[in-house]
Formats: sequence, C-alpha cells, structure tokens
Amino acid sequence: MIGSIINGQERNTSENTTDVINPYNKEKVQEIALASRDDLEDAITNSFDTFHNTMKNMTAHERADILRKTADLLEKNTEEFAQTIVKEAGKPITFSRDEVGRAVQVIRFASEEAKHISGEVVPMDAAIGGEGRLGLVKRVPLGVVGAITPFNFPLNLSLHKIAPAIAAGNTVIFKPAEKTPISAHMLTKLFTEAGLPAGVLNLVTGTGKEVGEPLVQHDKVHKVSFTGSLPVGRSIRKTAGLKKVTLELGSNSPNILFDDTDVEQAVKLLVKGAFAFSGQVCISAQRVYVQKNIYDQFLEQYIKQTNDLKIGNPEDEDTDIGPMISEEEATRAKQWVDDAVENGAKIAAGGDQKGTILTPTIMTNVDKNMKIIAEEVFAPIVSVIPFDTEDEVVGFSNDSIYGLQAGVFTKDLDRALRVADKLEMGGVWINEISTYRQDNHPYGGVKQSGIGKEGVKYAVEDMTQLKFIGMKLKQ
Ligand code: NAD
Repeated sequence: MIGSIINGQERNTSENTTDVINPYNKEKVQEIALASRDDLEDAITNSFDTFHNTMKNMTAHERADILRKTADLLEKNTEEFAQTIVKEAGKPITFSRDEVGRAVQVIRFASEEAKHISGEVVPMDAAIGGEGRLGLVKRVPLGVVGAITPFNFPLNLSLHKIAPAIAAGNTVIFKPAEKTPISAHMLTKLFTEAGLPAGVLNLVTGTGKEVGEPLVQHDKVHKVSFTGSLPVGRSIRKTAGLKKVTLELGSNSPNILFDDTDVEQAVKLLVKGAFAFSGQVCISAQRVYVQKNIYDQFLEQYIKQTNDLKIGNPEDEDTDIGPMISEEEATRAKQWVDDAVENGAKIAAGGDQKGTILTPTIMTNVDKNMKIIAEEVFAPIVSVIPFDTEDEVVGFSNDSIYGLQAGVFTKDLDRALRVADKLEMGGVWINEISTYRQDNHPYGGVKQSGIGKEGVKYAVEDMTQLKFIGMKLKQ
C-alpha cells in the first residue's frame, strides 16, 4: 500500500483506502491509503513552515540543480514510469513513453527558467517629485501552491505545476487524481532522490471532496493551480477566496479544413488528433469542419484510416486505442452517441462499446445542440461537419462555451492568419491539429476553458508576484 508523503514521511497505514484498477484488464494495480482532512492540515502546516524556513533560503542555482537532477533521473527511469501510466491510466505504451519524454523536457525548461527570474528598475524620476528615488521591482515566490491534477496526463500535467512552482521558490501540495496516484507517488520520491528537501513537495493522495476542497479553501495556501473538468473548475473559482487561481479546463476543439488542404496529410493527423488516448485529451479534435468540395474525399479516407486503428491491450507496442479510464465513462460516451443518433445523426465509423472500450467513432449529420458537439465529449468520438464559407466556419467554431485550441488547415497564408485572428481560442495551430502541444509555449483557454497560462515560462510568472522596493536617496 502507498499513501501520502508529508515532510518526507509516508502515511500508508490509513484504514480508509481505495484501489487503483487497470482499466483494461480490471486487475488491482495498487492499494492507496486515502488522506484525511487531518493529513491535509499537517501537509499544509508543513508546506507553510518549509516555505519560510527552507525554500526562502534556497538559491536559484540550487533549485535549478535539483530540477536538472530530477529530469535526469526521470529520463533514466522512463520505462518504469511509462509502464506505470499504462497500468493506472490505460494509456497505450507508445503514448505513455511520449508523455514521460515530454515530462523530462518540462523539468529541464523549469531548471533553466529558475535562473532567469528577474525584475526591473522603475524610472522613478518620470513622475513629478520622483527625482532622487530608486524603484526596484522584484519577482518573488507566492508561498504554498496547491497543485490539483487530472488522470489523463498524470505525469506531464502534474509537472506543469510542480516544476515551475519549485523553480520560482514555492512549496507545493500535490493532489493527484484518485485514479492515477502511483506515478505521482513515484515522482515525489524522485524529487527527494534528486535532493529536494523534505516538505518542499508534499503529496496528498485523497479524494476531491475530502482533501481537494479544503486545500482550495485554506488560508495558508496562496495559489491553486488546477487542471480538470469545468464543473470542478467552477467550484474552485467560487471557493478559492482571494488566492491566485489557474484553471486549465476542457474544450470541444474545432479543426477547420479549407479546400486547398493536403487532404491525405490532414486525415493522417486527425486520426491521431481525435483518437489518441481514446480522445481523453483536453484539446482532442472533437469538431472537424470540412469545406464542401473536399468533404466526401476527406470523409472516405478518414473512415478508412480510423477503421484501421488497432484496438487492444495498452501494454502492446502496436496498440493504437486502449480503454477509457472507466466503464462509466465509456457508457456515458456511448449514451451521447445514441442520443445524437436518435436526433438524426449518423455513425460513419465505430460506435460500439464493450466495457471500458469504445471503438473510434466518427459522426456525421450532427446538430450544434447535440451533446457530442456542444459539450466536451472527452472520448474517442469526432464529428465531421461540412461548411461553405470562411465566415460561416468561423461562426461555427466560435459557437461554443469553450475556447482552448483550434487547428486550421490551408495553404493560403493570408486566410490562415485571418482565421487565426478571428477564432476565440487560447491558441491556434496552422496546418497542425488542435491536439498538438509543446511544453514551452503559452497554453490555456479563454471563455470557459479556463483562466491563466501554463507552459513553463508563463507558469513561472503565475507562480510569482511582483514586489516593489523604493528608496529615497540622500541628495
Ligand atoms: P476532474 O475535474 O474530475 O478531476 C481533476 C482533479 O480535481 C482530481 O484530482 C480530482 O480529485 C480533483 N477534484 C474533484 N473534485 C474536486 C473539488 N470539489 N475540489 C478540488 N478538487 C477536486 O477531471 P478528470 O476527469 O481527472 O480529468 C478530465 C478533465 O480534465 C477534462 O475535462 C479535461 O478537459 C480536463 N483537462 C484539461 C487540460 C487543460 O490543460 N486544459 C488538460 C487535461 C485535462
């Protein structure tokens, strides 16, 4: 049994436990001791004290060194972490290895960033009466950062919070998703092995209700960085009080194909874009808008390549599609498909559910009010929709409560940039799928897709605050 790690001590004797179940074969992977409110209180008190007693004295080069060593250790242990993600999340092994590779980069970016957190000198004499004064602006850490993370990229998305928080000189309380706490536990131990002092990163393995909510509300926590669903994001925004909040929430990402698109290339990319990790990706291609004169050609090839995907055991090297995170989630997604069909939509590929597996599903004849269009589907379901004009497709794309990332495919550069400007999104990719993300560009949604940005440099900004120091000089 594994459990929380608070001030370097593991708490794995609780009677309140939960099992991590492999979503593919339903085998028990690990037993987890769930943290209580008292455990959380201890973790917060310790993180608060460690911030004042340890972290405030740690230099930038020391923080950078620890991060660099952690990245090196993670790289060395890639296979062990990847196999863990396969078992706890059901993510196919090749995608799990990719996730670890990206996580290594995130920590390296943070290590570099730790050495470049700087401020500025204000031209105080620009104000009347300001002569003979010096104004310094320093970027200082916040204190205790609560990092609450989802199941779908259990390692990389956790590191998008933890690594910048440490780079900036904060302490962290890490609350991973209940379904994927094993990689989180391994990661916490890895930081210790790399030399991170006890208490800088405290892990609490508990439920959203028991430890997530009080973590968000606690006065000794100075920032909450959350990645997860819209309903939980909304409740965090309501209850966080005056603390800083970053919310990385969901979307129903549009991808737009104009008639000068290289159809073959777009098909190949969008098979991955819609179905990677069974569509359980916040920027998964959910709505594909195709200009009318290439619609039939695109759809035919898209169906064919989708039907060629290999569904099976995520441990196998050649598996493209594994299970969804739980049977309830697969059943929920299948229900959304059935509801759409009842209202006139057609299943062009897939649509079959067995246990946790939903076959990659392409829908046509859809309507904007169907759940598979209007809400975040978070499943291997994509809709292909015809359009006539640029203005029409911009309207379709923006007709959503979400706005995270979009993809635009065209050879016409003027059109590409014009459309990119008109799309209400946190990010737009040209000739690339909405699902593509690097870890060093600003990332985060507009509208109900969230608040704030990640991407290491931008997360470090959000993990710090500006402090002004003024001095009156003797003339
Ligand atoms: P979730 O919202 O169910 O859970 C996320 C985390 O929040 C978990 O650790 C959970 O225990 C915790 N939590 C639950 N209730 C809470 C509460 N009341 N207070 C505080 N914490 C609470 O999300 P999930 O199912 O794990 O992940 C899927 C969602 O995450 C999707 O909506 C997806 O779009 C989103 N997501 C967004 C991004 C992004 O960067 N924008 C990336 C990945 C996933």
